Amino acid sequence: FAEKIKKNPNEVIGKLIKIGVMASINQEIDFETAKTIADEFEIEIEKNMEIVEEATDFFIPMDKEEDLRSRPPVVTVMGHVDHGKTSLLDAIRETHVTEKEAGGITQHIGASEVVIDGNKIVLLDTPGHEAFTTMRARGAKVTDIAILVVAADDGVMPQTVEAINHAKAAGVPIIVAINKMDKEGANPDRVKQELSDHGVVIEEWGGDVISVPVSALKGTNIDTLLEMILLVAEIEELKANPNRSAIGTVIEAELDKGRGPVATVLVQNGTLKVGDSVVIGTTFGRIRAMVNDKGRRVKQATPSTAVEITGFSEVPEAGDQMIVVEDDKTAKEIANNRIDKVKEEQMKKSQRISLDALYSQVQQGTIKELNLIIKADVQGSVEAVKQSIEKLSTDKVVIKAIHGGVGAITESDVMLASASNAIIIGFNVRPTSSATALAKKEEVDVRSYRIIYNALEDIEAAIEGMLDPEY
Ligand code: GDP
Repeated sequence: FAEKIKKNPNEVIGKLIKIGVMASINQEIDFETAKTIADEFEIEIEKNMEIVEEATDFFIPMDKEEDLRSRPPVVTVMGHVDHGKTSLLDAIRETHVTEKEAGGITQHIGASEVVIDGNKIVLLDTPGHEAFTTMRARGAKVTDIAILVVAADDGVMPQTVEAINHAKAAGVPIIVAINKMDKEGANPDRVKQELSDHGVVIEEWGGDVISVPVSALKGTNIDTLLEMILLVAEIEELKANPNRSAIGTVIEAELDKGRGPVATVLVQNGTLKVGDSVVIGTTFGRIRAMVNDKGRRVKQATPSTAVEITGFSEVPEAGDQMIVVEDDKTAKEIANNRIDKVKEEQMKKSQRISLDALYSQVQQGTIKELNLIIKADVQGSVEAVKQSIEKLSTDKVVIKAIHGGVGAITESDVMLASASNAIIIGFNVRPTSSATALAKKEEVDVRSYRIIYNALEDIEAAIEGMLDPEY
């Protein structure tokens, strides 16, 4: 490390000892320690590893810029129920799946590809933000662009707002599809107005979000929507290196009676080949067969391709990472090591943010931001609380309301809280029973209040370390 930053090793060791690391000259130090030392020297360092499995000494270095090639975008359709998410996916597929499914049987592998002007777009089949957030909560980012479907005759609804906030929290660009333009009551201007009220400002309104009026039912303007997806993809400069071993994420998995565990993985980098040794989450194996979205057997899958794979012993979970390694032995070693890590993670969950522990977390410097999700019975309360609560920010902790909405506290709120390490605050609303169960499992702090003042008081007390613990 000293060599790399061109410093005297003794000087580095000196600094290490100062921060309590009793290092010798040929001892390895982890990245965090290295960064602390580099900061001392006022040197910027970056971790140029894409994947590191420390305990097994396995790592994949970052790709060199010159090895990167552009890759197709991966798109998720989100929006309020009945606004036409499924219809839109169908409309896109009907017009643009060039190759018919093998034997006329519709394959369902969790993702499909369409080709427009020779450019590929990958659509994730499960519409809605639940799947999206579940994956993100597990650390997986598969979506490059979110299509927000808003019915022109209905406007922005609670789940539209949820979808907006989920996409924003994940840093995924949004394209708005104003759907049902064929309907009598269609009012796209109202939709644009309502969207801007929620921070999604359409281009014609001086913002940077593209909107396309469509009719999924009539198949109107679907091409324009697809062109806009390609345009945004180009701006995003999505890239991957096809000439290396693959990394991907599981988007669906199940136990098939005949074939055993099967999983659909989205290849995100590298090229996946039949015969590759893989680790998938905590399971491992060798790729026996691969089937694409048209139901055809394929021998390899390049970046941004979804394939259904078989050849491993246990069913992985959606959101699990897949990596190709050199042999089965390495795969097994990494899988076992990950099982140990999962156990550790479970321990760590007890370090989740909570109002009770906030003060000590702030003092230890482990928390610098308090993310809140605010649910209330009326919109007025949501706004009022948001404004008063954010004002409680101090120089040690910034308070941010990442989502606010009207209605009961739902599972979706809990998943968002879990993914963003947030606390949920409800006013005159309670969590649904399934949300309560999920909050318990995910160890998300959910608090209900009747009076705004009480919530403000609690948060203020928590910041100052004066909160009476809740039993
Ligand atoms: P989802 O719940 O968002 O997946 O919505 P669906 O795709 O199931 O659509 C809900 C309803 O709206 C269905 O009855 C569709 O036929 C209808 N629908 C969807 N798109 C359009 C459209 O462009 N125009 C009209 N008139 N109806 C639509």
